[in-house]
Amino acid sequence: MNNQSIQKVVILGGGTAGWITASLLAKVLGKRIDITLVESDDIGIVGVGEASIPPMVNFNNALGIDEKDFIRQTNATIKMGIQFEHWKQQGESYMHAFGSIGKNFPFCDFHHFWNRSQQLGIQSNFWDFSLNYQAAKQNKFAHLNQIEGNLPGIAHAYHFDAGLYAKYLRNHCEKLGVTRVEGRVDEVRVNPKNGYIDRMVLAEGRTITGDLFIDCSGMRAVLIEKTLGIGFEDWSHWLPCNRAITVPTEAVSPVTPYTRSIAHTAGWQWRIPLQHRTGNGIVYASNYLSDEQAKHTLLTNLDAKPLAEPRTISFKTGRRAQQWHKNVVSIGLSSGFLEPLESTSIHLIQTAVIRLIKHFPHQQINDAEVQSYNRQSQAEMEHIRDFIILHYKLTERDDSPFWRQCRIMQIPPSLKEKINLFKQTGKVFREQEELFAEVAWQQVFLGQGAIPEDIHPLASSLSEQQIRELLSNLKLIIDRNVDKLPLHQQFIDSL
Ligand code: FAD
Repeated sequence: MNNQSIQKVVILGGGTAGWITASLLAKVLGKRIDITLVESDDIGIVGVGEASIPPMVNFNNALGIDEKDFIRQTNATIKMGIQFEHWKQQGESYMHAFGSIGKNFPFCDFHHFWNRSQQLGIQSNFWDFSLNYQAAKQNKFAHLNQIEGNLPGIAHAYHFDAGLYAKYLRNHCEKLGVTRVEGRVDEVRVNPKNGYIDRMVLAEGRTITGDLFIDCSGMRAVLIEKTLGIGFEDWSHWLPCNRAITVPTEAVSPVTPYTRSIAHTAGWQWRIPLQHRTGNGIVYASNYLSDEQAKHTLLTNLDAKPLAEPRTISFKTGRRAQQWHKNVVSIGLSSGFLEPLESTSIHLIQTAVIRLIKHFPHQQINDAEVQSYNRQSQAEMEHIRDFIILHYKLTERDDSPFWRQCRIMQIPPSLKEKINLFKQTGKVFREQEELFAEVAWQQVFLGQGAIPEDIHPLASSLSEQQIRELLSNLKLIIDRNVDKLPLHQQFIDSL
């Protein structure tokens, strides 16, 4: 089969990964290829993954999904950032607010000017100059592309119900002609001549053949691992959390337009507010905290009545050695996992399917294409991995063995270089199209207490008076624009 064109694509799995993959493939390649998605109602989906990041807005637009409809159907709310509580020290918090902060200067990032103001003893907080932060903390939201002074507007993402989202995408896909097959795959057959997967056999005996198989079977990794045995690169020595316990609670008013990440003695707890309920979960390292202790911590830190029994999920952090092998591409949890601290997994699904379409084989699967796809996937995931490790590594906490270990642990050389550069010079650069921009790194660096020893010369060339004027003008503009915004709840109600 490796010398014929790809006509039949089979997706195994109907979780967020399966349906996102099917949606974009059907939208872009639907006239050329036939798409079948197999999912098992008995096995079900992981059912978590309810916080997103801003690129999801564009992805939904590309699919032709109407935002209002999406928010209504998935009980979604707006997310403008993630508040990290007790990460640097107990009692302290900061936000990774989406969007930009201050003014975008072409040669020197705004935070250098702010750091200069700190050297001069001018009282201010870095997030005074974040429109997103100020709006989020006042529970306000409206679509705003730009504000006066040519300053960028609000960047947003969503919190949404994962189960409703999968159903929503399924409806969307079925309209685009995707065939859904319900059943459990019990056997996978490989062609001994070329090592390609030929067919999947369902429990009731039905056979599904295909040219290209996309493994969206979640942590089971039925095709890429169980069948092709591709191997796993374990990152748990850098990211030791390996378990989560989740529990939904009753909705609390007002519905805050940001995620909360609250550090505990051996991990952290999320709070994701939806319209009809709040999603909560604790992520922890089982070497440092027992399941019972974790459950107790989670339940004693809820702000409303639980709506279901807590559910435990085990995971291992790392990536499949190759995301694409032979005629199998793994997307979603089957391709690897990074803990949800920065809500990046769904984004990785979206970029994987975009990358797959860009690499889509014409006449046959070409090794060079496969290698290029794998190289890009690896780089993307490693950049995000480094960003997540940064939160742990820079902690100043020493109140538990877990945090003490995070402070002294070895980190990837790529991250070490980035930390050294920032600490010594205040500089940080977005590399090789990595997901997180400079302003995201700056917020985590500063929020976790990494104050740079130096600043950019352009910032030190301004006088104290000029710095004062710059900051007070920016603050005035931001405060004025936040004052005019409606409440987030009013935005949701208007839908
Ligand atoms: P699943 O949802 O597990 O779907 C697997 C599918 O494969 C199911 O349909 C199942 O029925 C099917 N299947 C498996 N085996 C077979 C078989 N043999 N036969 C037939 N069908 C089969 N991501 C974010 O972006 N933001 C977050 O806030 C976030 N929070 C998370 C919190 C936790 C604790 C965890 C573990 C993950 C989180 N994620 C988050 C990740 C996110 O949940 C996943 O990336 C997303 O749900 C995609 O999952 P999936 O579709 O790959 O797998």
